[in-house]
Amino acid sequence: MKYVVVTGGVVSGLGKGVTASSIGLVLKSCGFRVTAIKIDPYLNTDAGTMSPIEHGEVYVLDDGGEVDLDLGNYERFMDIKLTRDNNITTGKVYQHVIEKERKGDYLGKTVQVVPHVTDAIQDWIERAARILVDGQAGPPDVCVIELGGTIGDIESMPFIEALGQFSYRVGAGNFCLIHVSLVPVLNVVGEQKTKPTQHSVQGLIGLGLTPDILGCRSAKPLEENVKAKLSQFCHVPMENIVTLYDCPNIWHVPLLLKEQKAHEAIIRVLNLKGIAKEPALEDWSSMVKLSDELHVPVRIAVVGKYTELLDSYLSVHKALLHASVARRKKLVVDWIAASDLEDGTKKENPDAFKAAWKLLKGADGVLVPGGFGNRGVQGKILAAKYARENRLPFLGICLGMQIAVIEFARSVLGLQDANSTEIDPNTKNPCVILMPEGSKTHMGGTMRLGSRRTYFQAKDSKAAKLYGNKSFIDERHRHRYEVNPAMVPRLERSGLSFSGKDETGQRMEIVELSSHPFYVGAQFHPEYTSRPGKPSPMFLGLIAAASGELEVLLQQVSGCQETVPRPLTNGKLEKVYWKETAKKPVSIMYSLCDGVYS
Ligand code: GLN
Repeated sequence: MKYVVVTGGVVSGLGKGVTASSIGLVLKSCGFRVTAIKIDPYLNTDAGTMSPIEHGEVYVLDDGGEVDLDLGNYERFMDIKLTRDNNITTGKVYQHVIEKERKGDYLGKTVQVVPHVTDAIQDWIERAARILVDGQAGPPDVCVIELGGTIGDIESMPFIEALGQFSYRVGAGNFCLIHVSLVPVLNVVGEQKTKPTQHSVQGLIGLGLTPDILGCRSAKPLEENVKAKLSQFCHVPMENIVTLYDCPNIWHVPLLLKEQKAHEAIIRVLNLKGIAKEPALEDWSSMVKLSDELHVPVRIAVVGKYTELLDSYLSVHKALLHASVARRKKLVVDWIAASDLEDGTKKENPDAFKAAWKLLKGADGVLVPGGFGNRGVQGKILAAKYARENRLPFLGICLGMQIAVIEFARSVLGLQDANSTEIDPNTKNPCVILMPEGSKTHMGGTMRLGSRRTYFQAKDSKAAKLYGNKSFIDERHRHRYEVNPAMVPRLERSGLSFSGKDETGQRMEIVELSSHPFYVGAQFHPEYTSRPGKPSPMFLGLIAAASGELEVLLQQVSGCQETVPRPLTNGKLEKVYWKETAKKPVSIMYSLCDGVYS
């Protein structure tokens, strides 16, 4: 097992996560099987109890781990499936050490940061690195470890000490340290300043870690003399200094690393020469090129509660992007603070109210993402109502689906006080209720979490078609409340169909309105499994519907009987068939993206 450790210096927010993910992708493209670990030095056991406004979204894994959003970047870039153990926090490590102490595993000893905590960290890294993440047998070849925070933070000290010891434990040639730092430009002359990086490398060396490679964040590529200076003062060879200069979007970063031969530097340090292939990033770079050239816009209004920090909806944003690129559309997201749509804002801040409604009315599609608590719920209900009544494509995720059900109960069933008991515990018409297994006293890790199965109820629903007419799907969950099963028959009689349910048939997973062009809600979070080049079916449905192309998409993806005409050289259209039963399809789709067939 080879380890690539990514640390950060000078300031936070340098894009260490994207750098680590991109390194993983480039190494994967060199033929290695990769995995990743994120170390978060905070005391929380996991990210589940942290506010998305402070820390960005809580990412959810298949095994139900509620983890840092960087694990989402790793999964998306490296196309792997991580586990809760791939996210190490101070809280987890101390809990583990204290449990051992209580069991008597250290009997007679004074339990200390060094060696007990540092040993626990190293053991954890070794164990987590070997977990299977790519569906293939045997442990991965390379593990990318990102240390959260900035060198010098008090919380990260035990981890730095542990990593220093770890570099000896695994030995030279198996450990590569990449330090990501900032090279600012201060004056009008545009001189690139190396001092902050020098200081941060000195700090790192003082703590027992020597960088092998420097990743310098800067506005422009580093000048050669600046590189020479850094090399001299930081004791890093010139060819191991990479500039992570500003680029149009994060998909460019792996290409930027490849261009500067960062993979060769890593391969040298890890003694992998002769085994590594030339990085095969052709597919990735054509996707980047394609996405840069898109110009036909699709405008999606995301009506949420945490819109002041866009990282709160990172996976939703990425999933929208994956689907838009697949449909050859340029994604434009209008972030609307749900409460701005409410009457209260109309009185207090009429401009914000007007602006929010203008955005909603100008959108091609509406998405109401997941969320918790009261704030903005009324605004989300108004957005769902607007989309339903105006036949605007709508996707509700988790709370967004619950909102769609509440709005339907209010407007169509006439139950004015219909609500979720999360919002109004005393409502007479609780159409969303606490799940029997939900806890109100313990917040950490007590929701219905992770990958669960949804069974489609009928073949002809839009959701079933979008998922290729499978009989069931597995998607990730994170909720405490659910649609009240007692109210389902009444809702269904009025035209709301629950087209996906769990294995008991009692838990509603997908809701849709067949009379509407696209009005779909999911209790699960499809955004967590969307990948570049492998968009989530739900998001693909929304984007296609918002672009007026849903029918075409459904024909393409539903996989049965549909005849899809293709242009022939004689100018006529030919009928081609895809039969579910045929061993080999008579004609197969070349790409879901552009309607080209072969
Ligand atoms: N607050 C709702 C629940 O707990 C929805 C959760 C979510 O959107 N992730 O069920």
